[in-house]
Amino acid sequence: MKRRKTACPSCGAPLEFTVGSVVSVCDFCQSAVARTDRKVEDIGKVAELVETSSRLRCGLSGTFNRKSFTVVGRVQYQHPAGGVWDEWYLAFPGGRWGWLAEAQGKTQLMFQRKLSSKVKVPDFDSLEVGGAVKLGASEFSVTERGVATALAAEGDMPWAFRVGAEHRFVDLQGDKDVFATFEYGKSISAYVGKEISLDSLALEGDGWDVIDATVVTAAASLNCPQCGGTLTLHVPDASLRVTCPSCNSLLDADNGKLSYLKTLGKPKKLKLQLPLGTEGKLFGDDYMVIGFLARFAMYAGVSYPWQEYLLYSEKLGFRWLVYNDRHWSFASPASGEAAKNTGAANEIAYDGSSFQIYDRGVATVKHVLGEFYWKVEAGEKVKTADYIAPPRMLSYEWSETGKSSEVTISESVYVQTDEIEAAFGVENLPRSFGVGPIQPPPSFDKRLFITWPALAAVLLLIYLAFGADRWLLYYGLAAVSALPVCILGYLHSFERKRWEDSDYSPYATE
Ligand SMILES: [Zn+2]
Ligand SMILES: [Zn+2]
Repeated sequence: MKRRKTACPSCGAPLEFTVGSVVSVCDFCQSAVARTDRKVEDIGKVAELVETSSRLRCGLSGTFNRKSFTVVGRVQYQHPAGGVWDEWYLAFPGGRWGWLAEAQGKTQLMFQRKLSSKVKVPDFDSLEVGGAVKLGASEFSVTERGVATALAAEGDMPWAFRVGAEHRFVDLQGDKDVFATFEYGKSISAYVGKEISLDSLALEGDGWDVIDATVVTAAASLNCPQCGGTLTLHVPDASLRVTCPSCNSLLDADNGKLSYLKTLGKPKKLKLQLPLGTEGKLFGDDYMVIGFLARFAMYAGVSYPWQEYLLYSEKLGFRWLVYNDRHWSFASPASGEAAKNTGAANEIAYDGSSFQIYDRGVATVKHVLGEFYWKVEAGEKVKTADYIAPPRMLSYEWSETGKSSEVTISESVYVQTDEIEAAFGVENLPRSFGVGPIQPPPSFDKRLFITWPALAAVLLLIYLAFGADRWLLYYGLAAVSALPVCILGYLHSFERKRWEDSDYSPYATE
């Protein structure tokens, strides 16, 4: 890696710029130093980096597409909805740079693309989440539009970093795992790349293996700043909000530092099916219930409530269990493919299945308990759309925070109540009477349907061979057909019931 040597204009310590970098942060005095053609300039001290669970470090080297690179710097941004994310700078041979963003367990490696004068990038204000944008021959869908603040930095970066500067950005999802970002500065910069796993980068360097083994952060026991009672933060480096079990305060959690926000009303008649702190094993992975949301949607003046349990796994991060009308489903983040759809169509092709629109509405948070990885508020509203392909569901949620908007897409699968009881060691969970939107139909032995024509043929043969009364044949046929016909009728009514609460039922009559 070629470097240019100079001295820090603030403290005089030796300073080296990676070829192609524009700003470098002095290791000794944390001054950001900008380099122009002839001179270096002190552009101010950077804030201290916030501890994140990132496995990356400056100095690591790795390989991407058979080209080697070194991780030389990073900038930490404040997300508009709270929390920080890291953007790492990978120096490739020939002054080429990779931009690697890590947020919410996803890693995207992008490269800057020169936009030809023919490409018209839409204005920041004209883009809407869910809208489509054409870049060359490919079509992208807007997944997020926001304003982030550059907070802290270390090492070298290929752009004119300024402490505290606001960045307007738009995230776009292309086909499969292709991803793009527009940065709206003095001019518009475009970055295109894809979602990758860190393991695919063949990273090596001092401490890489050690870091790998110690990535798990321990739970922290803290005192409520309002009442002094103790509370546990299970995921201190990711949680942004936590409620106090003693005084019911909603607290802001900034890397384990708690501050009081407000006192939440004591919910009446609230029964948690899975108490906070419950541990269990579902689909082979260990989880702990760390958060609880009671939400509702209004429909024709009637409130339809449901519950959501936030699960945390050291291996996988966050997942959800949704409890709605006594039916359970398990939700995980959907793959990028889902974001290509704007959520406006009535049918979505996703992961090999066709998902049909089931419901559109607005979900409101009524009660909050436990800890959360975003700045949750009671009263928080999101627009929603649910698509079903039993036993799976694809759910879109559109949220707005000030000038920022974002779509979150999750994929869920139906879970039998028995499985929930077995997984979390709880008993006597309520059983549902109705049919859930993604409840799989009961299965019947297929032999029932295969043997029917055989039985009918035998009856016909007997009739022809012995010349029996024709009515006996009819009675016989009716007898052997009764069961299959009942089952088909039952399955049909099961599907009708599934769609009973939907405005989009294929069985609806005008
Ligand atoms: Zn210095
Ligand atoms: Zn308290």
